[in-house]
Amino acid sequence: MSEYTEKTNFIDLAAQQSNIRKSIDISIKKVLDHGQYIMGPEVKEFENKLSGFTKAKYSITCANGTDALTVALMSWNVGPNDAIFVPSFTYVASAEAPAQLGAIPFFVDVERDTFNMCPISLKQAISDAKKMHLNPKVVISVDLFGLPCKSDEIKNICEKEGVKVLIDAAQSFGSSVGSVKTGKFGDASTTSFFPAKPLGCYGDGGAIFTDDDELADVIDSIRLHGKGIQKYDNIRIGINSRLDSIQAAILLEKLKIFPDELVSRQRIASAYNELLKPLEEIETPFIFKDRKSAWAQYTLKSKKREKILDGLKKSDIPTVIYYPKALSQQDGYKHYPSVSSGLENSNNLSSEVFSLPMHPYLKDSEIEFICAEIKKSLN
Ligand SMILES: *Cc1c(COP(=O)(O)O)cnc(C)c1O
Repeated sequence: MSEYTEKTNFIDLAAQQSNIRKSIDISIKKVLDHGQYIMGPEVKEFENKLSGFTKAKYSITCANGTDALTVALMSWNVGPNDAIFVPSFTYVASAEAPAQLGAIPFFVDVERDTFNMCPISLKQAISDAKKMHLNPKVVISVDLFGLPCKSDEIKNICEKEGVKVLIDAAQSFGSSVGSVKTGKFGDASTTSFFPAKPLGCYGDGGAIFTDDDELADVIDSIRLHGKGIQKYDNIRIGINSRLDSIQAAILLEKLKIFPDELVSRQRIASAYNELLKPLEEIETPFIFKDRKSAWAQYTLKSKKREKILDGLKKSDIPTVIYYPKALSQQDGYKHYPSVSSGLENSNNLSSEVFSLPMHPYLKDSEIEFICAEIKKSLN
């Protein structure tokens, strides 16, 4: 019998759970025993642990990664006529948050090699927005697939223009540039604990990170209905966006094994890269010397994508296309403005990218099998 009778998972949350099931059960039981389901002690404890991990001065949890973006934008009073620069090649939430506040998502192109926002395109977009009499207010720069974006270059451009930098690190929690971890970049950054993200809970969750004292105060207030010092003082318009105690309890346990999981993800990505690099028809992910991806996804580019995906499907290997359509081409978003120099990379990538199974429990034998099947599909 083949060793592949057990189907390879795209993401294997069950393998992770079986490792830590006992400690998760104990952690959840504690919440059931004390009964503080909302803003229980686990929430503060997890926020402290997040700051310990990222070294961000403030880690403020909320209900999900989309709310994290919304709350951060609200803390800067984002509203109508404000241009919020977002990459056209990303998950919809990055553009949805500003659109929902009545602001204008302004689409910027990405770099072909990193999948992340192109600083040159951003510079052009800011100048375009000014000509259109919009108010350039915030850049939402995404760390796509887990790789940190060029936040230093983006910050340099934005500082000159008085534009805030918000890093959407929903896919990159645990990544780093040199010795600095995600959570320290930009004026603020956000992440998501959706189950499939590098650090995921068993429901929805998110967090906002900043080193700015005043901003942290405002963010904390906005996520709790605009509260003042007293709980029933409402000093601004906020939203209801809290991480619940059970999710915090689960995340406390998952954070303990997270550093080891990151090492595994790194090892798996290197193994894929080594086996796939010799294939001419495929572009493997760009690896930086000083930038460590959290490897939320392992994403390849190929003009022969459909052929490869057909082959992998026949071998029962799951694949996903992130993202099949650039945001500027989506019906809900195509009326928003985009950079005058065009979105060529974003548009081309949608027709070339595909992601392979990626999780910390992927076996060497599975990686070898997947790569062999890719090779076969190209013959
Ligand atoms: C997942 C994701 C979000 C949203 O996170 P949710 O927790 O699902 O709301 C935002 N931005 C990016 C880039 C994401 O991948």
